[in-house]
Amino acid sequence: MKTLLDLSARFIDENLYEGPFSVNRVSMQLAPITEGIAMVEAFSHVVVFDTGDGLVAFDTSLEPMNQGILRGIRTWSDAPVHTVAYTHGHIDHIGGARAFVDEARSRGDRDPRFIGHRGVIARFDRYQSTNGYNRIINERQFSTLGKVLLGGSLDGRFGPKDWVRPDVTFDDRMSVRVGELTFHLFHDRGETDDHLWAWVPEKKALVVGDFVTWVFPNAGNPQKVQRYPGEWARALRTMASYPAELLLPAHGLPVGGADRIQRVLGDLATALESLVEQTLARMNEGMPLNQILMEVKVPEELMERPYLRPAYDEPEFVVRNIWRLYGGWYDGNPAHLKPPSDSSVAKELASLCGGAVALAERAVALRDSDPRLACELAQMAFLATPDDAAVHAARAEVFRARRDSELSLMAKGIFGTAASESEARKKALEAEG
Ligand SMILES: [Zn+2]
Repeated sequence: MKTLLDLSARFIDENLYEGPFSVNRVSMQLAPITEGIAMVEAFSHVVVFDTGDGLVAFDTSLEPMNQGILRGIRTWSDAPVHTVAYTHGHIDHIGGARAFVDEARSRGDRDPRFIGHRGVIARFDRYQSTNGYNRIINERQFSTLGKVLLGGSLDGRFGPKDWVRPDVTFDDRMSVRVGELTFHLFHDRGETDDHLWAWVPEKKALVVGDFVTWVFPNAGNPQKVQRYPGEWARALRTMASYPAELLLPAHGLPVGGADRIQRVLGDLATALESLVEQTLARMNEGMPLNQILMEVKVPEELMERPYLRPAYDEPEFVVRNIWRLYGGWYDGNPAHLKPPSDSSVAKELASLCGGAVALAERAVALRDSDPRLACELAQMAFLATPDDAAVHAARAEVFRARRDSELSLMAKGIFGTAASESEARKKALEAEG
């Protein structure tokens, strides 16, 4: 039988890519990886170690997946869950935690111990104060999937019903011994400011959370708080300094073999370092953000790796986050310092070119040859005349085509949401007659 390690070996060795779902699988099945280590493939995965004195789990997946996760684990081991480590506080990693506690109690076991970086607690507090925002952006990012999984529920909340806070937190590093295994936990910033990764020497295993996800690193996400591309790359280089034979990510496939692990960690680090270097070099020359966005590219051969495809996030968004991290919000265009309202610019442009419908027609004409410009003009036409069915038809067409031509889920989500809005608005306007 082909194992997950066989699968990842083939993809890496042959530089083969068979689409996003071939590497990011959510089978909800438990896959034994090696003696004493298993992984439930979900969103996120749950990585489990059998220590001889209970189980140590990394992450708990999303709340709606929790029953499948626990069923999977119980096909593999009957031992109590001793410790749960959160690789970070995103809801697809902590959402299932309550179910782990409930399961332990129903079995008469002690409650599992929850370990996380100190920043997880601040994150949970931030989610309380930005519940509405997070619900909206996750629905936009993940489309229907977001409504079902990440919106959490029909009652307007974001995330799980119960947030299980870590019992034990740490700042930089911490080592825990459970049964026969040692877990050296390290904090680094990367996708988040509250990430941990682990080195388990007895198993020569790295547990890497979202530092490796088999997509281009989520270091740019347009709708979310700051990410840390340079520190992310440094963390990957540190991981590569350990003699790992097994790499266990929270999304995507596990990787076996020192050479493959070195290649994956090295390529991911190089891609991020390249973006940081190119962006900083241009910032240091005083270049405005827009020009930097047009110029900076990741070396093409790296983008072809099966673990670096921009199926989720993409390099252009990472460049913006590098700008945000090292610079201010001013983008170098003096007209943007204290700008006019978007609608006044749109109305002025529409009047100059003979009306919003003319603008919309030009947008449609540019749909395939210059999709960036086409979207800008379609949005202007809409802002100039928000209640015109013809304008909405054009805006829907331009943004739908853009959505379909993009690779990243984040771009698809935002463009697709714009298209859907105009499709619905057009229908409603036509019905009003
Ligand atoms: Zn994740």
